[in-house]
Amino acid sequence: MARTEHLTIGPSPAGEDCAQVGSPDYAKQARKECTAFVNQLRRQFGEEPDGASLRIKSNPHDFGSYYEVGVDYDPDDEAAVAYALKVEREAPEEWDAEAQKELKPPRPAPKPRPGTVGAVLASKQKPAPAEKRWIGPIPNCDFCQTSGTVGGFIDGKTNQGPWAHMCRPCHAKHGLGIGRGVGQEYDRTGVKVAG
Ligand SMILES: [Zn+2]
Repeated sequence: MARTEHLTIGPSPAGEDCAQVGSPDYAKQARKECTAFVNQLRRQFGEEPDGASLRIKSNPHDFGSYYEVGVDYDPDDEAAVAYALKVEREAPEEWDAEAQKELKPPRPAPKPRPGTVGAVLASKQKPAPAEKRWIGPIPNCDFCQTSGTVGGFIDGKTNQGPWAHMCRPCHAKHGLGIGRGVGQEYDRTGVKVAG
């Protein structure tokens, strides 16, 4: 049977507050945060390769269970090890926009009464699309090490299977395209431009 090792990532991004053990809603809140964190890690690093698995670990604790996210991986599987180490090393410091949405469903804004100035303005306004940004430092190309700050970069699936950070020329050679599930393109400041 394959061996399994475990790396602990944490209960939430390092720079964010998290549910406090012992608080009345702890278990519910902590599981919600851990789930959002796992989802965010998958957005950032891609789905786990075979042999690696992000999971919520509950540890027995004096006050009940303590929840945190970690990655189980097969130490004999190169891709699994690389994924686990990358997630540990580059885990985000902050919730991304999706995770924030997941944790705090926004309340619908009250509708202005018909016929008022507010209603007229509201009918003319189109909400600006939220700018999506890369979380964390701009990565180097995994193939040629060119910094993504030079000409932008793509976080995408490669024709060898795993996801990688790629400069545009390397993406043209090794990538599988731009779009949901295959690659996201960012400019050199980390603003998402496609995908
Ligand atoms: Zn490159």
